[in-house]
Amino acid sequence: MKIFYYSKYLSETLSELRNQGKSIGFVPTMGALHKGHLELIKTAQQQCDIVVASVFVNPKQFNNKEDLAKYPSDNEKDAALLEKTGCDFLYIPSVDDIYPSTFEPVSLDLGPLATIFEGEYRPGHFDGVIQVVSRLFDIVKPHKAYFGLKDYQQCLVVKELAKQSFQNIEIVFCPIFREKDGLAMSSRNVRLTKEGRQTATEINKQMMKIASSDFSLLPEQYEKLAIKALEEKGFEVEYFKIADPNTMLVLKAWKPEEKHIILTAAYIDGVRLIDNMIFSVGN
Ligand code: AMP
Repeated sequence: MKIFYYSKYLSETLSELRNQGKSIGFVPTMGALHKGHLELIKTAQQQCDIVVASVFVNPKQFNNKEDLAKYPSDNEKDAALLEKTGCDFLYIPSVDDIYPSTFEPVSLDLGPLATIFEGEYRPGHFDGVIQVVSRLFDIVKPHKAYFGLKDYQQCLVVKELAKQSFQNIEIVFCPIFREKDGLAMSSRNVRLTKEGRQTATEINKQMMKIASSDFSLLPEQYEKLAIKALEEKGFEVEYFKIADPNTMLVLKAWKPEEKHIILTAAYIDGVRLIDNMIFSVGN
């Protein structure tokens, strides 16, 4: 695996490969890699000739400075994991390489998507995501780019970005990878205490409980029960909502035979965890 620190050299190398007819798959990450990230790499390998991963903790998408400072990082370990998985190229840029003085911020109208859920609790977050993803897409110019459904709202934002500005890039969504006990894999999980790590499984339990229920209560009633159960376990819940997966608009009633999504963000041990679950009602 070849490691690049400068966009110029990466772009030149990829341009040659593109001219040779090779297909390029791209997996952007913020590092502290886990099996969930590596599954994205493996999916890209199945679909593309060349796979490029990036590791860049994007300061623009952190509204909370402390969260940015505490974000785990281990480039050497990440590089070793990617090498073992057979990734072809790794791009580890500096902030200046991603945002040079000539950088022109991209503006995109996301409509309500920008201000609900993660947009509401992390103001400016999706603007930061758009800036970094646009810049990375300009550098890598992949045929396909891979994103995890763990960050569901981010998937919709990137889809919109591609629709408006990068129509040549196919966006591929990959399923959520969970630990055996149901906790969604996340770089932030390493910050949990032993007890917090155990308690964290309650998020998945509460979502499963709703997804496999008889739907005899209204969505809002299930939401309230789940929030209460999570709070009793020590969580500070930012949101726990049932919504339409296409629009992310909150549902007041079930839609038989249709897909629904539970979206949640909650703190345990001072660590912010997000998760979601898509399920059907009545079949
Ligand atoms: P991050 O490094 O957290 O920015 O994540 C990089 C990519 O990996 C994003 O597209 C995430 O959605 C995806 N990802 C992170 N955790 C998981 C997971 N548990 N399952 C699937 N995809 C994930």
